[in-house]
Amino acid sequence: MKKRILLLAGGQSGEHEVSLLSARSVLGALPRDQFDVTPVVISKQGRWLPPTETVRALEQGAAPVGGDLVLHRAASAEGYDAVFPLLHGPMGEDGTVQGLLTLAGIPFVGSGVLGSAVSMDKVMTKQVLASAGIAQVAWRLAVRREWQQTPDAVRARAADLGYPLFVKPANLGSSVGISKVGTPAELDGALQLAFSLDRRVILEAMTAHKPREIEVGILGNDAPIASPVGELRFEAEFYDYETKYTEGRAAMHIPAPLPPEVAEQARQTALTAFRALDCAGLARVDFFYLEQTGELLLNEVNTMPGFTTTSMYPKLFEAAGLSYSELVTRLVQLALEER
Ligand code: ATP
Ligand code: MG
Ligand code: MG
Ligand code: MG
Repeated sequence: MKKRILLLAGGQSGEHEVSLLSARSVLGALPRDQFDVTPVVISKQGRWLPPTETVRALEQGAAPVGGDLVLHRAASAEGYDAVFPLLHGPMGEDGTVQGLLTLAGIPFVGSGVLGSAVSMDKVMTKQVLASAGIAQVAWRLAVRREWQQTPDAVRARAADLGYPLFVKPANLGSSVGISKVGTPAELDGALQLAFSLDRRVILEAMTAHKPREIEVGILGNDAPIASPVGELRFEAEFYDYETKYTEGRAAMHIPAPLPPEVAEQARQTALTAFRALDCAGLARVDFFYLEQTGELLLNEVNTMPGFTTTSMYPKLFEAAGLSYSELVTRLVQLALEER
């Protein structure tokens, strides 16, 4: 019997368009002799689009704007063997959709409510990983109301960390809303932007130098495996949205040219982080490597990483001998596995 798979794409976050690209690749790669796949695109307003609108949105890489909210069509997830929530960012990668599917009793690809929610929030992630003994940059949390009522308290936290620093919405991805802040004069604008996207904002000390950026893929549930290590190289000051999504701005190196012991340390630390955060299925764990000092700092864990055929995560497992189509098949199997 073919398994019936519901593929969710789009969604309400700033990473809506990226998700549509990822979904198009997955849709083309799930073997049709094993899976009967139905895509559903979720609009930026949260509307689950009917089939013809879904097909058009996937083709055009953009969903129609407007309409009303979710849940009546969400109930149609019933009757599927598994859901592939290929959604990035809030309202998709953060445990919300995972909660809906858990309530409905439908298996799904990737982390559950706990792993998704904790990994999406950069502050919560750092707290959990710090307690697991994993090295990271120094950070501070600020919430919107504090920024509105006692901005000087927030500015003092930035001064504590020193400049340059990074200001980020705590729950987002694709570098949306992230600023590198070089001087105190630039701080308010960066905070304003981040708080327009999230109630929680993280301030992070910048690494001592421009870091090398290395990434490890993890695959599995309670016996996860780590991929070879990949590296991203680019000219931009940091890995911002434009650099991520403009063809030719960044180059991927797999395996990353690293001393073997550093690569092994990254793989082991990525596995430790995956377990500490209670992730499942897949994750891409990103690090900063400082050649000058040999320091390896964990930056973040993405529980639904970019998933086009040219994205880092699938490329890392391709280097390990797993084709894109074998990888998506494996992810669905992991969703269906007894845990
Ligand atoms: P993704 O698309 O991988 O989910 P994201 O939006 O969650 O990314 P981060 O990975 O936290 O964002 O940061 C984006 C980029 O900003 C990093 O890849 C790096 O280039 C730069 N960066 C972020 N934080 C720091 C830091 N503390 N020190 C130096 N560079 C940083
Ligand atoms: Mg991220
Ligand atoms: Mg992400
Ligand atoms: Mg990142």
